[in-house]
Amino acid sequence: MRVFSKPTILLSSCIEHEACRYDGSMTRCPFVRQLMPFVNYITVCPEVSIGLSTPREALRIVSNTSAEEDRLVFSKSGEDITNQMNAFSDAFIEELLRGELHGIILKGRSPSCGIKEVKMYTGVGKSAALPKKTTGIFARKVMENFSGIAVEDEGRLLNYSIREHFFTRIFTLADFHAVKARQSIKELIRFHSENKYLLMAYSPSGLKKLGRLIGSYEKVNVNELLSEYEKQLTRALTSMTGTMRNLNMLLHLFGYFSKEVSEQEKAFFLDTLESYGNKKVPFSVPLALIHAWAVRFENKYLENQTLFEAFPKDLIEVTDSGKGI
Ligand code: SF4
Repeated sequence: MRVFSKPTILLSSCIEHEACRYDGSMTRCPFVRQLMPFVNYITVCPEVSIGLSTPREALRIVSNTSAEEDRLVFSKSGEDITNQMNAFSDAFIEELLRGELHGIILKGRSPSCGIKEVKMYTGVGKSAALPKKTTGIFARKVMENFSGIAVEDEGRLLNYSIREHFFTRIFTLADFHAVKARQSIKELIRFHSENKYLLMAYSPSGLKKLGRLIGSYEKVNVNELLSEYEKQLTRALTSMTGTMRNLNMLLHLFGYFSKEVSEQEKAFFLDTLESYGNKKVPFSVPLALIHAWAVRFENKYLENQTLFEAFPKDLIEVTDSGKGI
């Protein structure tokens, strides 16, 4: 069974931690709760941190054409607190940059924390909402400073594919940081080798670049190599994997066993692959067949591939709502 490093996650406090929303409520999110034993959360409520009370008047973002930037203001009184929020965000991020961060979960649609789809208004009171949506004032600073890190809001995590992608990224990066801390080329080679097929599924070109980097290890300084590897690794994992890339990777894996298994088993696997390509069965089905062969033929190299367990099994929840099948 794989041993995972604990990722550090920045989290909006109002998700499962504090009743600090403007109306005194807390937001429930089954996946944030489920992650608790597996990660270290750094919680923050930017609005409470700048001295606002709970409950409080709601805030909104006003797009002021005469001003250079969007303004964060109280919805009724119009009091502008943009400068306080920017000053807090800069100081908070400066502190955060001193440590390791592997993922970010912020409260959706909030004018402070929302990562997208935040409403913008022309003014206060009953003034109209603009068709254009934006990012919260705190969230945009966080995202600018942690561009390679997985960032989601609690609403998007309800989607199975988005959640799986988020979990894969945070646990892979946390494992890489454990390797980085040891500054060992041997450990880096092991990490690269164990993540080979996961990376192939995510980004075949990224895998090639990382392979070239590993190949150059005798020519470069270990710190430079680890920094460049991290940059390329986060880039390779940015976009979700797709059906074609998964099929390509599964065919590579099939190559290990095509001479070992019977004609019937081969036909069954290729048939399953076709069903996966036609979206009739999930990715986990052909992957489980390959995994079973790796165990049966005692292929330790494949058994150790992170692809088969990219994040702790207890986090697997196959429904989109998280409320059971
Ligand atoms: S969305 Fe952000 S600012 Fe608003 S209550 Fe939650 S943590 Fe605080």
